Amino acid sequence: MNIPFGDSRRQYLAMKDEIDSAVGRVFESGWYILGKEVDAFEREFAAYLGVRHCIGVGNGTDAIEIALRALGIKSGDEVITVSHTAAFTAIGIVAAGATVRFVDIEPLHYTMDPALLESAINERTRAIVPVHLYGHPADLTTIERVARTHGLDVIEDAAQAHGASLAGRKVGSIGRLGCFSFYPSKNLGAFGDGGAITTNDDALAERVRWIRNGGQAKRYDHAILGVNSRLDELQAAILRAELPHLDERNARRRAIVERYRKALAAHPALVLPAPDAPDAYAVQHLFVVRTKLRSALQSALALRGIATQVHYPVPTHLQPAFAAEAPPSLPVTEGAAAEILSLPAYPELRDEEVDYVATKLRETLDAL
Ligand SMILES: *Cc1c(COP(=O)(O)O)cnc(C)c1O
Repeated sequence: MNIPFGDSRRQYLAMKDEIDSAVGRVFESGWYILGKEVDAFEREFAAYLGVRHCIGVGNGTDAIEIALRALGIKSGDEVITVSHTAAFTAIGIVAAGATVRFVDIEPLHYTMDPALLESAINERTRAIVPVHLYGHPADLTTIERVARTHGLDVIEDAAQAHGASLAGRKVGSIGRLGCFSFYPSKNLGAFGDGGAITTNDDALAERVRWIRNGGQAKRYDHAILGVNSRLDELQAAILRAELPHLDERNARRRAIVERYRKALAAHPALVLPAPDAPDAYAVQHLFVVRTKLRSALQSALALRGIATQVHYPVPTHLQPAFAAEAPPSLPVTEGAAAEILSLPAYPELRDEEVDYVATKLRETLDAL
């Protein structure tokens, strides 16, 4: 068998008629930027999340930058986030002009450890950006409580967690603003780049709308300094075709993870991901196991046609671009980065493929 780590083509083929008719509709309309499809997607995704406003932007990194700009965050301000995430979380923060302060994660779900926030907050701190990593909600209940005590805003990085929820509320609807990416492999993925910002605050939503389109309050009226970062009509039409399938595809991701769990349980050389936190509904963006034998395992699986990846091999604070912002050490982050391995776990993966991966993984570990 040959099992790719992800396969956008399978997703297209599963929804071919709906996708073809969506893009055909846009070509027929002759309208590509900020039109009916973006308007409709913004309304539909906001309704799905249970939030007042959704504003489509160019990608998830821009979403973070624009959300921070809308809050008036600027040079000299500090924003707290995690290092164990896509580097783009911190890149969005720096693009807004702020300085990043990295905190460590908790070891169960690899999300921001709220116990470390107090010591990271100082007089320059303005906001906290938790990441719902691998589709599991960060502990927003505790993070919001700390933020409120210090008058800070919480901006959710929900790029890996479309449809995840905490105590019945969808992520992206809980913080002051939520940021989504529609990169093709995300739970809700476009066929190109795309992103969105969500908020319940009418005034902030208006500022976000201005900022994504050059800071224009009306055409040719650049009221504030903005950027150029707009979700396009083609991607919005594709996302509208996919949104009705998001819940069933997330459920399929969870079923795949359950199948892996049963097949891999109790292997001494393997640590499986922790179950969902109480109150949390995770959407399994990635299925990440942990083992001290990672590199040997990864090459042995590759020889058997199984592609795996590491999310992420070098934490953001150890990247050369962030040398100036690096804290002395983040032991939980660094420990995880050395041992984590992501297995194929996308909705179109077939049961027999999951079984093949699990069998080969067990056999390889037994032989190592
Ligand atoms: C994908 C991702 C981003 C960046 O999104 P882009 O659309 O690629 O810019 C930011 N944060 C996290 C956690 C991500 O997974």
